[in-house]
Amino acid sequence: MAKLTVKDISFQGLRTFVRVDYNVPMEEKDGQMVINDQTRIQETLPTLRLLIEKGAKIILAAHLGRPKGQRDPSMSLRPVAAKLSELLGKPVAFVDDCIGAAVEAAVAGLNAGDILLLENVRYYNEEEANDPAFAEKLAKFADVYVNDAFGAAHRAHASTDGVPHIVAKRGGKAVAGLLMERELKFLGDELDNPARPFVVILGGAKVSDKIKVIDTLLNKADTILIGGAMAYTFRLAAGGKVGKSLVEPDKTDVATSAVNKAKAKGVQFLLPSDNITATPVKTEKLNKKGKPIFDLQNPRVNTGDIPDAEEGLDIGPVTSKAFCEVIAGAKTVLWNGPMGMFEDKRFADGTNAVAKAVVEATQKNGAKTIIGGGDSVKAINKAGLGDKVTFMSTGGGASLEFLEGSPLPGVVALSEK
Ligand code: AMP
Repeated sequence: MAKLTVKDISFQGLRTFVRVDYNVPMEEKDGQMVINDQTRIQETLPTLRLLIEKGAKIILAAHLGRPKGQRDPSMSLRPVAAKLSELLGKPVAFVDDCIGAAVEAAVAGLNAGDILLLENVRYYNEEEANDPAFAEKLAKFADVYVNDAFGAAHRAHASTDGVPHIVAKRGGKAVAGLLMERELKFLGDELDNPARPFVVILGGAKVSDKIKVIDTLLNKADTILIGGAMAYTFRLAAGGKVGKSLVEPDKTDVATSAVNKAKAKGVQFLLPSDNITATPVKTEKLNKKGKPIFDLQNPRVNTGDIPDAEEGLDIGPVTSKAFCEVIAGAKTVLWNGPMGMFEDKRFADGTNAVAKAVVEATQKNGAKTIIGGGDSVKAINKAGLGDKVTFMSTGGGASLEFLEGSPLPGVVALSEK
């Protein structure tokens, strides 16, 4: 599945359509949209610097938010152009459309090494519909295509799927950017042939989101550690009580079959033996969706069944210690999903302990440690340990789908080596 990358081909003087992930969090301050976190912009810099060095005429395309086909000024990419220019230390032109005459004129003015950022591709519904005529318009000026937006690669949209196919049909190359290349290496090749023991840590809210990942990883891992709310569906499946914990009673059959598959394959499959629980008490306050907010009172360690009035919110200290011991012996670690409701610091100990153990395995054991995107990346950054693991995926849904073994349209569309 080796794909061509930006390192493999020449770009000198070529109009290069680069799909990036600039879906950055923004906030309105004094009537202006301000970027809250520039990580995604920063992460494209290595690819952009290489393209500049190789003399590409760079045309950047991205989406921001969900404008649903409307020109919503709060979702304009204009502030991203300014931030990118600041980070690169060179001008970045911006055009307030992604197709049509204005784009044509801007592209015609590009010299080798210049950069142009197009306006939000999702201002057109045709982007998400992967409309062929829209893809043709986007692809009109592209001699070559680069995809560095792993986080959007699970979507077959015009800018991730339509455009690379059109470019390839014309005889142009569609290649992976450096960020995309790293994602494919760490979430793909490294986990296909992992150094052993290979320990997988899975947590988060729902079993249903991760059942396919569990199923795929049962074919590769030596040990799987389960935390987060999804552990309660496993507990229910085993006949235990889960009180008011977040649980999916209709998914106990998939939980049971995962446990059985683990047994049959000789994969160690560990579930929490103790939990931090609290008593949810309804307040008068409502959340944004108009639902009552619950106060989580009297957090305590609970071993065994969770009482009816309580809710499991983190793994307990005995579980945490057991999980960390397993992680300490690992040579490869993949982690996806927090061990508890880590956003509340009373329920973050399990997640933080796992984060520290993963970092220690990297530093003391030379383990390759891969954080599989989404909330585990948030958790590890929150613990201040983000730069101390081998790799953190930039994808959420894309990472999960890739780990499931599903082909990602944005990857499939790239040219083979
Ligand atoms: P996911 O996106 O599936 O990785 O889930 C992440 C979310 O799961 C985070 O917002 C956590 O707060 C939440 N979560 C993890 N464990 C629990 C739990 N025991 N109870 C409620 N929410 C949880």
